[in-house]
Amino acid sequence: MGATFEDILQRSDLKKEDIKVLLSAAGLEMEHLLRRGLEVKLAHLDNYVHLRGLIEYGNTCEKNCLYCGLRSGNGKVERYGLTDEEVLSCARLAHELGYGSVALQSGERSDPEFIDRITFLVREIKKIDGGSLGITLSLGEQSEDTYRRWFDAGAHRYLLRIESSNEELYYKIHPRNDRHSFRKRLECLGILKRTGWQTGTGVMVGLPFQTLDHLADDLLFFKRMDVAMVGLGPYIPHPDTPLYRLKDQIPSTKDRMDLTLKMIAILRMMMPEINMVAATANQTIDPQGREKAIAAGANVIMPNLTPGEYRESYFIYPDKACVQDQPDQCQTCLDIRLAAIGHRILYNAWGDSVAFTKNKK
Ligand code: SAM
Ligand code: SF4
Repeated sequence: MGATFEDILQRSDLKKEDIKVLLSAAGLEMEHLLRRGLEVKLAHLDNYVHLRGLIEYGNTCEKNCLYCGLRSGNGKVERYGLTDEEVLSCARLAHELGYGSVALQSGERSDPEFIDRITFLVREIKKIDGGSLGITLSLGEQSEDTYRRWFDAGAHRYLLRIESSNEELYYKIHPRNDRHSFRKRLECLGILKRTGWQTGTGVMVGLPFQTLDHLADDLLFFKRMDVAMVGLGPYIPHPDTPLYRLKDQIPSTKDRMDLTLKMIAILRMMMPEINMVAATANQTIDPQGREKAIAAGANVIMPNLTPGEYRESYFIYPDKACVQDQPDQCQTCLDIRLAAIGHRILYNAWGDSVAFTKNKK
């Protein structure tokens, strides 16, 4: 007799066929899967949640990804860039609120002015209270030299989602040209790892043309790459992007949410000690989405610290959660929401990936 669903739930070395069985779970089976994700996380990482104060540095982008509102081809976006002082005051606020880490994210730019300013800002953030803030960057594909410069300046975690680990699907959601090369994205992940970054990647869930086979392969890709962090979130169609015309060919909002939660729980079973982000996109399509992601195995939240007047211009996808929130409200709201599901925030700590730290030793 073949393995039952409950047998598969006890495995950590999951094969593609096991993963597909788990991704198909519904009803009670899905509940058991999500509970297993939580159980594995609690056993390895306790009930702590780490915070990264998110600073959306700018929305100018050289790329033209077919799904993202910040794409260079979207003429409706009012482009902005934070000043150095605005970035540093966000970082100081993160420190005052006890977040322990900040994450600097933006559209992709590779001009020397951008590279120099990020180097400067990383150094300045590191000066706050003698280097007490950890720094994550999510600034897209860069040269080896740039990645090294930013690492040497003091940042130590980098998030670069592969978006889909299947090359064919990758080119269905990106233009097929040198600026959007799948190979280059893979190479960048390799360079980041080699340079010593705690490297994170991830995919969007519920994309047009995406199948359970693709998603199972994505999970196996994360494992094979032995990444330290993963950020998974539902795809949300943006009206001013080319992919929007396929919005009726994707799973329903609920199904995209459920699939994301199942991906999180399965990945937690496969990689018990990595850091996993409960993406804002989860909360955007479900008011309880972030908490549900934490309860399925995620352990990182990125509260938005971008100054209010810029938030609506960082319009990756519609109805982004917390666009109106103020950081102090966010704080109380998060503490309460997380306590309600038996979790607590670990304040004043970098919250590095346990998987990465152990590997280094
Ligand atoms: N430019 C950098 C990059 O692409 O790596 C970082 C910023 S980009 C806005 C951050 C992430 O937003 C992307 O990796 C992508 O997965 C996500 N994203 C973009 N458009 C999205 C959409 N329509 N729905 C869900 N997530 C989206
Ligand atoms: Fe630019 Fe990143 Fe959006 Fe692609 S996903 S268009 S690189 S901001």
